[in-house]
Amino acid sequence: MYELKNILKTYGTKTVLSIDKLIIKDKNITAISGPNGSGKSTLLEILAGIQKPTEGQIQFKNKNIVKRKPGQVIIILQNPIMFNTSVYSNIAFGLKVKKTDKKTIKQKIEAVLVLVNLNGFAKQNARTLSGGEKQRLAIARALVLEPDIILMDEPTSGLDVQAKEQLKKTIKTIHKDKKIDFIIASHDTEFLFQTATDAFSLLNGQQAPVSVENLFSGVINANGNFIIDSGVEMTLSTFKRGKANILIFPENIVLSKHLLKSSMTNVFKGEVIKLIKFDNEIKVWVDIGIELCCKITPISLKKMQITIADNIFVEFKATAIKVY
Ligand code: ADP
Ligand code: MG
Repeated sequence: MYELKNILKTYGTKTVLSIDKLIIKDKNITAISGPNGSGKSTLLEILAGIQKPTEGQIQFKNKNIVKRKPGQVIIILQNPIMFNTSVYSNIAFGLKVKKTDKKTIKQKIEAVLVLVNLNGFAKQNARTLSGGEKQRLAIARALVLEPDIILMDEPTSGLDVQAKEQLKKTIKTIHKDKKIDFIIASHDTEFLFQTATDAFSLLNGQQAPVSVENLFSGVINANGNFIIDSGVEMTLSTFKRGKANILIFPENIVLSKHLLKSSMTNVFKGEVIKLIKFDNEIKVWVDIGIELCCKITPISLKKMQITIADNIFVEFKATAIKVY
């Protein structure tokens, strides 16, 4: 879908994005994760063609992004602007611009309202919708224009669990039934993990490995230990010193209820703060001063009887940490 080369975005002397090469495949819901300030919104706006990079090329479907057709790429901003009129008129607007006849407009809007689960909302003023409903209306407005791709910036901000669940379902259904791709930028890793089919991360404006978990920035001290901004210290296997980013693969972390006698140099005691069950794996988040995501199998979960608020040991080798 996208091919980016040598992208650089600077504001004055500050570099906010620096990406040598990035390919975003088609037929995906692609997640862009990363902490606040990592450049997600900037990248998303560049992908939408509404911001120009300082340097570099962006190919969209093998053509320069500037050659996209109107409505082909649609970005939904964090707080989508709603016209002060009905849900129906909000959706009709884009179609009227395209000089669509009234009957077709009606048919399209009825169909799209069902798709985003807003049937019954046609007459309601769009500005009175809840956050989740607004996001879904924004998707509906985009959908009637038949885009190839919809880009969403922090769609879950301010949404409660139920609204997130609804949004997740809507995105997945549209992707499957309408064959529309999505790129979602968010720091909500749980939502991304459950929604996306592909992912990459940004950290300080640079592309990080394809993982949405356990990315930390900090400093490697003279002893070769990594100190995360929050103060947590861990042993690494690297000659690098100074500022660095690390990634700890969730599958390389060992959880145990009792301290193990092992060669693992990184041992922390923490508290289980979140557990999410998927079909064939369980993600366990442990607070060790940072929130560390660990992966275990359903069998291990059963054997170990891990539950929220348990005190637990987290252990991993120095070589389980990737430094870049
Ligand atoms: P994210 O969406 O990941 O939180 P952003 O893309 O919004 O990150 O911002 C990345 C960096 O670029 C931040 O440090 C931010 O302060 C900076 N930035 C964004 N827009 C501007 C601007 N118009 N002028 C100067 N700096 C900006
Ligand atoms: Mg942002």
